[in-house]
Amino acid sequence: MNRIPLSVPHMGGTEQQFIDEAFSANWLSTVGPNIAGFEREFEARLGVPAVATASGTSAIHLGLRLLGVQAGDEVFCSTLTFAASANPIRYLGAEPVFLDSDCRTWNLDPAVLRRALEHRAGTKTLPRALVVVHLYGQCADMDPILEACNRYRVPVLEDAAEALGATYRGRPAGTLGHLAAFSFNGNKIITTTGGGMLVSANRAWVDKARFWATQARDPGIAYEHSELGYNYRISNVLAGIGRGQLHVLDLRVKQRRAIAFRYRDAFDDLPGITLMPQAAYGLHTNWLSTFLIDEEEFGLSRNQLIAALDRAGIESRPVWKPMHLQPLYAGARCYGGAVAKDLYRCGICLPSSSSLTPAEQSHVIDQVRLAAAVPIRRSA
Ligand SMILES: *Cc1c(COP(=O)(O)O)cnc(C)c1O
Repeated sequence: MNRIPLSVPHMGGTEQQFIDEAFSANWLSTVGPNIAGFEREFEARLGVPAVATASGTSAIHLGLRLLGVQAGDEVFCSTLTFAASANPIRYLGAEPVFLDSDCRTWNLDPAVLRRALEHRAGTKTLPRALVVVHLYGQCADMDPILEACNRYRVPVLEDAAEALGATYRGRPAGTLGHLAAFSFNGNKIITTTGGGMLVSANRAWVDKARFWATQARDPGIAYEHSELGYNYRISNVLAGIGRGQLHVLDLRVKQRRAIAFRYRDAFDDLPGITLMPQAAYGLHTNWLSTFLIDEEEFGLSRNQLIAALDRAGIESRPVWKPMHLQPLYAGARCYGGAVAKDLYRCGICLPSSSSLTPAEQSHVIDQVRLAAAVPIRRSA
């Protein structure tokens, strides 16, 4: 059996057609019908205007600038996340302030947020914005988060890079805050090889982001610029891949969930290994199948399990290292942090590709059982 990677691209079949069209019409730049089509079809799916970008990170950068984040500002941010949630805060010369997770969702703890905002209101140092992350395919508990932020008029950007297809109380991830960013990086639930999307109910914001993303060139043929822009647009070829991938998004969600639940059921007689909680308020895509290892009960530490799987040709990874523990953000302020630290210490992401065959899934299951010294169970 070949080595099993953590999460790989999975084409649906119609992507090539959009690419071929781009080639035959020579639409091989950041202009072309696939870009407008991808944005239109994404908007139709989410119900809010969208602008396609070169990456999820650039979408976050544009979104924070739309919220008025400037040098010297502070921006609240979930600590348990990938660095791309926080780095754009620094791109703008602002400083992130990190907030701990709720162990029931692994996402931003609304109670920690409430206390942090109260504290900041008291010292008249409210943050310019909040970046709230929807981790591994599950939305943060947005009602209490938005209620707290609305009370202090702190705008909210959702980092929905990992949560395309997830819902919260019936509404799609990315339509809950003022703005949201998605990623189509190669390891995400759908991919354009690299790309992103910024969405907002505020169409003027989305249009402004599109302007900034195309070098902020003023109207007319002269190369005149009144504002600072970026080269952040997606290419027409990659947008074509995105159009094809959108067709299979619901299927990919189904497949990723099925893998997570197959693992969960196969480990139900193993002590000390538990699937990331599935909050009752929404649909968790389980973009990555993520488990907590209790070393005492499981008989092996998280790191020992990763090493054992590696020897068996299986790639697994620790949960994200929290931002407040990163050398890059040493000295950044953090409210709480112990919960995220513990999730990082005990959390493991197992192979989760939607293209994972039943035999490959069985191999992962067998090797986890073997590592835990629990007999392999033969079932359907
Ligand atoms: C992948 C990811 C991003 C960045 O997206 P890119 O498209 O790789 O720039 C941002 N935030 C989170 C939480 C991510 O997982």
